[in-house]
Amino acid sequence: MIETKAYAAQDEKTPLAPWTFERRDVGPHDVQFDILFCGVCHSDLHQIKNDWFPGIFPMVPGHEIVGRVIKVGDHVKNFKVGDLAGTGCLVDSCRECENCKQDLEQYCLKGNSQTYNGYEQDGKTPTYGGYSNTIVVNEDFVLHIKENLDLAAVAPLLCAGITTYSPLRHWKVGKGHKLAVLGLGGLGHMAVKFGVAFGADVTVLSTSSKKEEDAKRLGAHHFVVTTDEAQVNAAKNTFDFILDTVSAEHDFNMYLSLLRTNGVHICVGVPPKPAEIAAFSLLGGRKSVAGSGIGGIAETQEMLDFCAENNIVSDIEKIDIKDIQTAYDRMEKGDVRYRFVIDMATL
Ligand code: NAP
Ligand code: ZN
Repeated sequence: MIETKAYAAQDEKTPLAPWTFERRDVGPHDVQFDILFCGVCHSDLHQIKNDWFPGIFPMVPGHEIVGRVIKVGDHVKNFKVGDLAGTGCLVDSCRECENCKQDLEQYCLKGNSQTYNGYEQDGKTPTYGGYSNTIVVNEDFVLHIKENLDLAAVAPLLCAGITTYSPLRHWKVGKGHKLAVLGLGGLGHMAVKFGVAFGADVTVLSTSSKKEEDAKRLGAHHFVVTTDEAQVNAAKNTFDFILDTVSAEHDFNMYLSLLRTNGVHICVGVPPKPAEIAAFSLLGGRKSVAGSGIGGIAETQEMLDFCAENNIVSDIEKIDIKDIQTAYDRMEKGDVRYRFVIDMATL
């Protein structure tokens, strides 16, 4: 077994603190890589707080993981020692169901293995995430990362990147579309970058004017402050798509009024409480509410390659792991510019 250093939450009320545990030895199809950087996703905070469901504790969060390969199993074909490597939200899936066969492991019908707060495919070995010094993952769930980009800024692509890239590709958002990105945080700022790269006319919908300059710098064409009634009224019936990245309770009916006829409100944010949606908000204009979860492994690789070719990375604030609680507190207040990334050398 491999002795592993980490930061863990022992239960939903105790702040993260140093912890050690054992990872499995490198099997014939496994890759072991030392973690250099790990992004901080709002899902980490939701899960250590039991916002969605009771978690598996101790919990080592982190699913935006990048580093360098230090060991490979005898049958590993696609990685060698010294390569850059990444792992996102998934470390395994059944590989046999209809969805897995179509490269949609994120929708595995038998239940995929999440990188943390989940179980391996044996259904009993807990998984532990990237707030740790090293990780062992089956090579089919390890991503290739090109050397040309800032590695710390690549880490958030593994979740925030793919979670926004995948729905924009699925709904073929691009030239001629008006896209609204709701919430300018980790996911939101990546959605702006991809929306712009795909040729859409991009508007950021934000709760205050504080991030307006940043939004424009990120490439957004317009900015609407959603607490300003006049600005909201002027934006009614204008968007083909809203990509909703909001982590907290919000009024869907108000945002649906901003969609054009046939518009689609795509949920990627996961507030702890269910939303109330009036049928009238949908039927006047044949509107839809849809959802999208992360992305499959092949699409994640496609996204990473797209980013490497187009020089797209996340805008990050690098932090020491001891400051994780401050990062969570700021994230909770919407004060993220635009992804915290832990420098794992500080572990
Ligand atoms: P984040 O960095 O904290 O960004 C969320 C943003 O939402 C905030 O910056 C803020 O933007 C806005 N916001 C917060 N509270 C709001 C409210 N009450 N009303 C309106 N807007 C509000 O979070 P993130 O890491 O991007 O994650 C966003 C959500 O996506 C989380 O729920 C996370 O769990 C979920 N997620 C889902 C998937 C998936 O597979 N679907 C994957 C990863 C994450 P402004 O300051 O601009 O208002
Ligand atoms: Zn995430």
